[in-house]
Order: sequence, then structure tokens, then C-alpha cells
Amino acid sequence: MSNEQTKPKTDEPQEEPKEQPNEEQPAQQADLPWLEETVTVAGDGKAVVQNLEDLLIVANKERNLPADYEPKDLVTPNVPFPFKEDLPKKKLRKEAALSLEVLFKAAEDKGMNLLAQSGYRSYDTQVSIFAYNAEQKGEEVANKTSSKPGQSEHQTGLSMDVTSPEVNYELVEAFGETKEGKWLAENAHKYGFIIRYLKGKEEITGYKYEPWHLRYVGVEHAKKIHEQGIVLEEYLQKP
Ligand SMILES: [Zn+2]
Repeated sequence: MSNEQTKPKTDEPQEEPKEQPNEEQPAQQADLPWLEETVTVAGDGKAVVQNLEDLLIVANKERNLPADYEPKDLVTPNVPFPFKEDLPKKKLRKEAALSLEVLFKAAEDKGMNLLAQSGYRSYDTQVSIFAYNAEQKGEEVANKTSSKPGQSEHQTGLSMDVTSPEVNYELVEAFGETKEGKWLAENAHKYGFIIRYLKGKEEITGYKYEPWHLRYVGVEHAKKIHEQGIVLEEYLQKP
């Protein structure tokens, strides 16, 4: 009983100075689409992503996109690709596409030789890719390197895999050691992009390090994520 009485007394002096700085922070933070609040659980137990048009949308191995979701504002960015065909995988959502053009121009000005390899991917395309990989390598291995349908970030139209001649236009870890890869790691956030799958964050993202996979989130969020050295899942984890 005597313990209970002493507690309120020690709290008292802290109350006043606390109030002012507290007022601004929650207002900013409350705008973020927290991971646990942006899914509903379907009948089969799968978590289905709800904030489909959100630039901070998260699709991963625990968060599924609806099979029929296709962004409405897909366009082809005016950047170099290592192939000529006009394929759907050239596309991104409009804001991401325009920002990618600005990023590519800035990279070119610095003497970088970047090419875009693969952007938007429909649910049905992912069905074929995963089935092919599972057949070649077995489902367990396939699941580490490619996504199951509905779990690929490429379906959001906010991701672009990029590459360079130095790695033969391939999507390989060595890209991170090229001058283009290093430039991206240091500068992509200025144009609203993050390196989505960081080294050392495999347990959180569910993917191996992918220095080539750019994800658009907008400049404001990209800067904060970059400065903190975290991945999108950590950024959207409710404190
Ligand atoms: Zn990718």
C-alpha cells in the first residue's frame, strides 16, 4: 500500500515539460499506413492488402495483393532498357515512372550507365514465373528468390529492377559493387526510391539482398528510410 502512494509523486514533475514536444510527433506519425492496419484476413487465413493505391503499400510473403489488382495509371518511363520490345514489364505507375526518369537523368549526368530491366508484373505473369522456378529449383528455393503470385512487389507498379553493362544486364548481387550500384545506394532516395531488400535485413523482408530492386515511396519517406538504414517493414511497424 505504501508503494502505491509513492508512484504518482515521482511522475508529477515530468508532466509539464513533456507536453509540448509530444504534440507534433504523433500528428506526423499518425499518417503512416501501419502494417497491421492495412490488411484484412480472408477466409483461407491469408492477409490481403487493402491500401492498394498507397505509395507505402507493402506486399511480401505475409501480405497478399488481390489477384485482380492492376494499377490504373501504368505508363512506360522514358529510360533505356536492354531490349527493344514494348513489354508490360517496362511499365510503372505514373508518379514512379516520372521520378525514375529524373533519377536516370541524374545518374547519366554523373557518368552512370543504368538500364531498366523489369518493372510491372501482373498476377498472372507471376503465376508463370513462380511455376517455372519451382519446377526448375523446387518450391522452397523458388520461394527465396522469386515471389508467389500476389506477393510480388512488382505487381504494385512501384518497383523497377535496374542493371548495367558491367554485370551483363543481369540482376545479380555483384551489381551492388559496380559504380552504378553504389551510386544508387547513396542517391536513389533523393528521387523517392529505396533499395528495398537490404543486406542483413533478410529475416524481415523475406528476401535476399537485391541491390538492383528499386522501390518508389516518394521523396519524403525515402529520405527518412535511407537515413535510418531500415527497410519498409520496419518503417511501418507501429511503435
Ligand atoms: Zn525486383
